Amino acid sequence: MSDDRIEQFRRMAEADPQNELGHFSLGRALLDAGRHQEAVTSFERVIEINPRNSRAYHLLAVARKEAGDKAAALAALRKGLEVAHERGDLMPRNDMAALMRELGEEPPAFEATQGAAAVEAPAGADNVMCRRCGQARPKMAKRPFKGPLGEQVWANTCQSCWDEWIRMGTKVINELRLNFAIPRHAEMYDQHMKEFLNLDAPADGG
Ligand SMILES: [Zn+2]
Repeated sequence: MSDDRIEQFRRMAEADPQNELGHFSLGRALLDAGRHQEAVTSFERVIEINPRNSRAYHLLAVARKEAGDKAAALAALRKGLEVAHERGDLMPRNDMAALMRELGEEPPAFEATQGAAAVEAPAGADNVMCRRCGQARPKMAKRPFKGPLGEQVWANTCQSCWDEWIRMGTKVINELRLNFAIPRHAEMYDQHMKEFLNLDAPADGG
C-alpha cells in the first residue's frame, strides 16, 4: 500500500537526514499519494542536500504546481533548467521545459553544443539510453544480475549510474536493516533500485 511505502521512505529519510535518495523517494511517494504540500517539503530538502539533482527540481515544480503555487513552480523550473543544462541531464531538461510551457512561460534557449550531452554516442546495439542520467552511454558488459529486473536494468542503465546505485544500495540495506531471506525485504530493495534508476514498473500488472 502507498502508506506503507511512505512510512518506509520516511524511516529512511529520518534515519539519515543527509540521505538524498530517502528524501527523494519519500517525495515521490507523497506526490503519488496526492500529498502535494508534504512532497514540496521533501523535494526542497533533497535540493538542500544536493543542489545539482535536476530531477528533484522537476518534481518540486510538479508538486508546487499541484499545490496551487504556480509562481513557485516556475521558480523551481528556472533554476532546475540551468542545473540540468550544466550537467547535460537531457530527460529532466526536456520534462522541465515542457512543464514550463504548460505553465505559460517560454523556456530559455540553451546553446546546443555543450557538456557531456553533446558527446556523439547515439543509442544503438552497444549503447544504452540510460534512464537515470538521460545519456546514451556504452552498455554494461554483462547483465548486472539474473531475472527480468536484471534485464530491465541492463537495457536501461549505464555503468556509472549502476555503480552509483551499488553504493546507495548498501546504505539502503544498512539503514532499513534488510534481510534478503525475507521476500518483502527483497521487494523493498528492488523498489528502491527502481526509484534510483528511474525504471518504472511495466504497465502489465496482471
Ligand atoms: Zn546513467
